[in-house]
Amino acid sequence: MSETDQSVASRRRFLKQAGAAALASISATRGSGLAHASHRNERGGELDAIVKNRAPLAQNAFYMLPLGAVRPTGWLLEQMKIQANGLSGHLDETWPDVGSNSGWLGGTGEDWERGPYFLDGLVPLAYLLDDARLKAKAQRFIDWTLTHPSPDGMIGPKGNDDWWPRMVMVKALAQYEEATGDPRVIPLLSRYFEYQLLSLSARPLRSWGKFRWQDNALVALWLYNRTGDPKLIELARLLHRQGYDWKAQFAHFQYTQRITRETIRLEEGKELGEIGLATHGVNNGQAIKTSPVWSIVSGEEDDRRAVQQQLAALDTYHGLPNGMFSCDEHLAGRNPSQGSELCTVVETMFSLEQSLGILGDPSLGDRLERIAFNALPGTFTDDMWAHQYNQQPNQVECGLHTKPWTTDGPESNLYGLEPNFGCCTANFHQGWPKFAASLWMASADDGLVAAAYAPCSVHTSLRETAIHLRQETEYPFRDTVRIAIDPSKPVQFPIRLRIPAWAEGTTIRVNGSLQPVPAPGSFAKLERTWKAGDVIEVRFPLVPRVIKRAFESISIERGPLVFSYPIKESWVKLRDRGMTADWQVFPASQWNYALSGNPEEIEPQERPVGPSPFSLKDAPVQLQVKARKLIGWRSLDGVAAEPPRSPVHSGEPDEKITLVPYAAAKLRITAFPQLSG
Ligand SMILES: [Zn+2]
Repeated sequence: MSETDQSVASRRRFLKQAGAAALASISATRGSGLAHASHRNERGGELDAIVKNRAPLAQNAFYMLPLGAVRPTGWLLEQMKIQANGLSGHLDETWPDVGSNSGWLGGTGEDWERGPYFLDGLVPLAYLLDDARLKAKAQRFIDWTLTHPSPDGMIGPKGNDDWWPRMVMVKALAQYEEATGDPRVIPLLSRYFEYQLLSLSARPLRSWGKFRWQDNALVALWLYNRTGDPKLIELARLLHRQGYDWKAQFAHFQYTQRITRETIRLEEGKELGEIGLATHGVNNGQAIKTSPVWSIVSGEEDDRRAVQQQLAALDTYHGLPNGMFSCDEHLAGRNPSQGSELCTVVETMFSLEQSLGILGDPSLGDRLERIAFNALPGTFTDDMWAHQYNQQPNQVECGLHTKPWTTDGPESNLYGLEPNFGCCTANFHQGWPKFAASLWMASADDGLVAAAYAPCSVHTSLRETAIHLRQETEYPFRDTVRIAIDPSKPVQFPIRLRIPAWAEGTTIRVNGSLQPVPAPGSFAKLERTWKAGDVIEVRFPLVPRVIKRAFESISIERGPLVFSYPIKESWVKLRDRGMTADWQVFPASQWNYALSGNPEEIEPQERPVGPSPFSLKDAPVQLQVKARKLIGWRSLDGVAAEPPRSPVHSGEPDEKITLVPYAAAKLRITAFPQLSG
């Protein structure tokens, strides 16, 4: 245990003990605090206790460790420091919507979703980095919300009574409670949810809140597991009854075509109607968790299975090679020139993290990594001071053209402060920190689970033993993951390791000796008495793969990384935007290549993983592939045409071109036509 680790652990222990003591004194003066006090007494003083589902809820396969138990190290720590030094760590200084006049600080400024969105990512970023500056920024918003509830229990600015922004704020408060044990959070959430239960019949869910009810239910169940108040299950049932039926949408999926303004009858200044909300990208990203979350209450196998039906429909009709579905900002078909909104990227990741925990389905972890290592970093500049609203797998220009978007405006794929609309500016912060927090989970049988892979350390306790675990790896750029286990005393428990579906030939060694490995697309379970100094070494063969995509195009993958041809970029500043700027990016080289697509001919080259792992300059892995120019494949108005149908003929000479990780190439081709034999 390093010095930092020790100080973090001891402070967490102190905060939890202080929290228990403070709550005990609150309970003495307020009768309604009894349930919370007993909850806190159960957990109080314990380091990193894992909270499981209470009866009558169904059990999860896995449980999230409390925020702060998993911390980034290695390249992931570097990446999150880049985020903290970029827009995330300074947004309130340069963007009035979350500045000191925010309605969520008692001001007269923006009082809807943007304050809570910012906090939902700032809280985990601050606590996972143990960054006092960021914690102080988050604390202002937290303290205002905790100290300004209405007498009836309502929280948030008085300027609106919309349930939706509060659905985000309660997620941020739950994370903050896990990280600090602040004794004010659980009583406030209890009173707010009681108020919501009483008020929903007169003021039912509508618009965004109706389509995002599952996020509200998720936190109500989080609270139920801590207080045991049966009214919280009643609330989850009411939210389900009033909320949109996502399961039915995907049982009979009708939105199989690219949505147009006409389909959703979009009219200027009018609110989106039902079809507009049902085909909205962010709503669909959030909805991926709906059936898993509801399955905890319903206990129905059918609900547990529904998530795969939903993902299959999105893949079949709207799937893109970067792991996302198209949503610019409505479902947009499979053309790799369609875009995906950044809010949808981070919300889909959060849904996958929660769903993986509830169901224990390893394919959700494969998908999570695919988005986290490709679509997420691909839509930011290297310094994370600018982002896009929409990213495209085949992105040949980021300019002010009439774009192929279903409903978005002409600035949608600029890199900037708030291209097109400011939701993503407020909401993107949760992507990396929640991913880091989800790398390891606890299993229902009191073991640990490697749910996704990236360098990190874990402090937790199970079977009355403190466990420290260090996961050292340069995955996804390298093939080996080394896990050093350090329990405070020898203790028997299972460790499950996710074996991705692509990872044929994976090897696992414990203290050097080979272990049996199950088929790819499952969890390997290692059950033994673990003792200090034990080491697990996993090797995932990173063999390049050629994947068939829409329009008979192909994409090249290696492990969870998707590879793209980097078009030479010419960055042109459009305008300064406070501490950052808006940028257009124009192509300075040709991009119209077709690939031979023979996996035998792909040559990987590894280079050191630098401090900015997704930067083009230091791309830690590159692939040499055989290609030919395809003269007839052009762009129109800054948008690459659909890939010509494969197999294609080209009389141009053979070339060897270099592909880089998707995220490194800000202008890129990812879906290529395939050359005929
Ligand atoms: Zn957005």
